[in-house]
Amino acid sequence: MENIQVMGVQGLPLIHAGDNVSEMICERMPLQDGDILCIASTIYSKAKGYTKKLSAIIPTERAGRLGKLNGEDPRFVQAVLDASTDIIMEHPFILSELAFGHIGVRAGVDQSNIEDGMVIFLPPDPMQSAREIRDEIKACCGKDIGIIITDTCGRSFRRGQTGNAIGWSGFTAIRDFRGDTDLFGHELKITEEAVVDEIAGFANFVMGESNNGIPAVVFRNCPKWTGHDDLYFRNNEDITKKVLKKEFSQ
Ligand code: GDP
Ligand code: MN
Ligand code: MN
Repeated sequence: MENIQVMGVQGLPLIHAGDNVSEMICERMPLQDGDILCIASTIYSKAKGYTKKLSAIIPTERAGRLGKLNGEDPRFVQAVLDASTDIIMEHPFILSELAFGHIGVRAGVDQSNIEDGMVIFLPPDPMQSAREIRDEIKACCGKDIGIIITDTCGRSFRRGQTGNAIGWSGFTAIRDFRGDTDLFGHELKITEEAVVDEIAGFANFVMGESNNGIPAVVFRNCPKWTGHDDLYFRNNEDITKKVLKKEFSQ
């Protein structure tokens, strides 16, 4: 626990559709059993071709209206609407839900770290993607490691973006402390720790947001944890979403 090592994977080139990111990482970083590999969703999506040319997008009337309202290119807004299954807020920015359960600003659609006039979408099924990468790494270098696919996300109540886990494989999202006792023998009744987000947050710090060129980060010697995978609130539990939707629909 005291000796956790965090290593950015150096020397990865610009990623293009068709690249085998798992292989490229294995070639550059000697992995060990039990390592946790964080990969920026950006490069996974570029490798899999989850990108689009803005010029190929025809905005609907709604995208035109929201584009004007928020000062954004209506074709970009259309990309955001296309990536969303539920719009929670339209202004001053779109906040929406994606099919895999994540709620994000502009549906996590990015225009940075890609050529001008292109957008990058989040992978449609990042849990499956994480499983795939884990299997590919095993096939590549024989090591049994955990995977976290990350994205930089805004958050409520506090300024500043942090890295979040959008897909993971090899462990549970949450470390469940319920039933444990604290230093004074009190039973913990509600404490669940979102470990995958904590690790994704630190990985995001190592990656940076601009031209660092570090889209993959390895954690070594992390302690194991047990818990569950219910990272996303169910609809009836999500108070913030309920309130925002009510406010917005008035
Ligand atoms: P996101 O958080 O998944 O949206 O990804 P970012 O755009 O913030 O990029 C995270 C890190 O990956 C930064 O260090 C970028 O410079 C780096 N990065 C993004 N795309 C590439 C790429 O194609 N190749 C390399 N080597 N690094 C990249
Ligand atoms: Mn992003
Ligand atoms: Mn980022």
